[in-house]
Amino acid sequence: MPLRKVNDILQHATEHHYGVAAINVFNYETVKWAAEAANRERVPLIIQLYPGFSGYIALHHVANFAKEFAQQSEVPIGVHLDHSASYEIAVSGIKAGFPSVMVDGSALPYAENAAVTAAVVRTAAVFGVDVEAELGHVGSGANLDDIVNSDRYTNVEEAKKFVEETGCGSLAVAVGNAHGNYVQTPNLDFERIRKLRAAVPVPLVLHGCSDIPHDQLQESVRLGMSKFNIATEYFRACYSAMAAATDPENKNGSMTQIMMDAAEGAIDFVRGKMRLLNPNGYTI
Ligand SMILES: [Zn+2]
Repeated sequence: MPLRKVNDILQHATEHHYGVAAINVFNYETVKWAAEAANRERVPLIIQLYPGFSGYIALHHVANFAKEFAQQSEVPIGVHLDHSASYEIAVSGIKAGFPSVMVDGSALPYAENAAVTAAVVRTAAVFGVDVEAELGHVGSGANLDDIVNSDRYTNVEEAKKFVEETGCGSLAVAVGNAHGNYVQTPNLDFERIRKLRAAVPVPLVLHGCSDIPHDQLQESVRLGMSKFNIATEYFRACYSAMAAATDPENKNGSMTQIMMDAAEGAIDFVRGKMRLLNPNGYTI
């Protein structure tokens, strides 16, 4: 099954009432484990990279091997560049071979966010690349105000206008979610999600899904949220799986064995999230 467009995967998920896990990756193994989970679970997957890791691994390396995994996959896999904080970063992702990019102007005033998003959409269209944008600002889970202050949440009327003005293919929204570890358990604004789903014609994206209580994730799926970004909790699961695979007594130990032994723990984590996001048991 070929690599699939992220927007096609999200449209399908929206129509069939399941959520797609969008797993953040860091290296070859994190891509391999996520792809294996999708193939065992028989559900679509989005693999995405945060461009802030470009000092560790070149964007084109990840784009290339993630697309190869997608091409070999038995289920649809999309490949996406996460949070591009500028036009230049988003376009560098397109140049590196990402078939989908996010431009995140959410920290900017509305007009500037709309302008940079529209510019990326125009350029991306030349290359057939999908674009995710963000309106309302998804902040840091370390900052309580970012979680609970509804002034930061996505305004429904603005969201409708923003999608019309920019032509973005999907929209990340702020509804009580935040990035990283949460200092307080989030309490998502379901009424706002419901109104956004009714007002906005493109798939909706929930960032910061690590540690959001399971019932809240499932209610978000039920209300029509389609893409669920998971970074912090996946990297924690990978760490735990690798830590469990180490043996401090083994002075001749090899990292190759750790990477191989850590696989099942990481795969199990992703499969668990996929089941949670798929309450009706949809399979390919
Ligand atoms: Zn995010």
